[in-house]
Amino acid sequence: MVPANHLVWLFASTFLPASVVTETQPLTHTQRAAIWTGTGIAAAALYLLGCLIFPYSNCTKCAGTGKSRAPQGKAFRNCRRCKGTGRRTRIGRRLIDHHRRNR
Ligand SMILES: [Zn+2]
Repeated sequence: MVPANHLVWLFASTFLPASVVTETQPLTHTQRAAIWTGTGIAAAALYLLGCLIFPYSNCTKCAGTGKSRAPQGKAFRNCRRCKGTGRRTRIGRRLIDHHRRNR
């Protein structure tokens, strides 16, 4: 399954710069930089919005299962990194939480 915010990412990175650049042909270096800066900020804003709606990602250690499997058999223990939850707080969400706590 592809999360909706990933589609937004794709949209922001392909469509936005192309539409602005092709519309007006001769661009100065500063204008070009301004467009890319604006696109970057927009992409970052979309990413943060995504992190607000979907704060978690799969734990990288256990791939979201929350289990650390024994070499053989059915035995397992809680994944140490996520303590068995199977989830990892995304970087953007951590930034948001940090900002909220310090307000
Ligand atoms: Zn884990």
